[in-house]
Amino acid sequence: MDLKGKRAIVTGAGSGIGKAIALKLAERGAAVLVNDVDPEAASATAREIEERGGKALSVGGDVSKGEDVREMVRLCIEELGGVEILVNNAGIARSALLINLTEEQWDEVMNVNLKGVFLCTKAVIPHMMKRRYGKIINISSIYGRIGAIGDSNYCAAKAGVIGFTKSVAKELARYNINVNVVLPGLIDTPLLRGIPEKYLGPMIKEIPLKRVGVPEDIAGVVAFLASDEAGYLTGAAIEVTGGWNM
Ligand code: NAD
Repeated sequence: MDLKGKRAIVTGAGSGIGKAIALKLAERGAAVLVNDVDPEAASATAREIEERGGKALSVGGDVSKGEDVREMVRLCIEELGGVEILVNNAGIARSALLINLTEEQWDEVMNVNLKGVFLCTKAVIPHMMKRRYGKIINISSIYGRIGAIGDSNYCAAKAGVIGFTKSVAKELARYNINVNVVLPGLIDTPLLRGIPEKYLGPMIKEIPLKRVGVPEDIAGVVAFLASDEAGYLTGAAIEVTGGWNM
């Protein structure tokens, strides 16, 4: 699963799953553009990659803003020389029961979790299509398939990411661009720590592997999808949940 010579963009890579993905891709030899809306978090991840002997470039930017996204892709091509891998990881939750959910909370989650995936994908594909090579990996959630009380905006956006992935996989297959989506279960990150214990405790009991996941559990699967060993996988929705899917 060698990624030497490849250039990767990982969004939301200042924390949690995105950070673990950035570190893993760099460990496999890819040069990584580390994006985050929090520029300090992005540069901390990039520093960590460099301290481990890898190559990284940090770029602060909001994936829901077209201008930020286009500038990020421009910098990747200019500074790292191209882009073969895109990991659409940035995501947020704004939890509330539907009866209390505001239009702002709906829009915020849709803009980051769904529009962000559209904008980043659209921005990298001209480059990938020209070179007839690309690996796009979207991070959805098992919630996008099963739904969750208090997260209708998040679940709708994550279900949207699955539909987007499957459509774009069909459109881009002729250009040798693989597009897949990972559906994490419960993964120990700051996002998960936002779920109240009264909901989280019972859910953990339902996981067949009897533990929450760690960000590295997702990073390993993403590194595989980014590699040529996964060359015949496209449009796949891969659940990484410790067996939890109800
Ligand atoms: P996290 O909160 O630890 O990290 C998310 C990162 O994204 C943060 O560094 C944040 O600053 C950044 N970010 C937020 N908005 C952004 C924007 N507009 N532009 C760029 N960066 C932005 O969360 P995490 O748990 O690591 O989540 C990563 C992804 O995995 C998300 O898409 C999330 O929905 C998904 N996911 C997480 C879990 C879980 O249990 N942790 C489960 C399923 C799916």
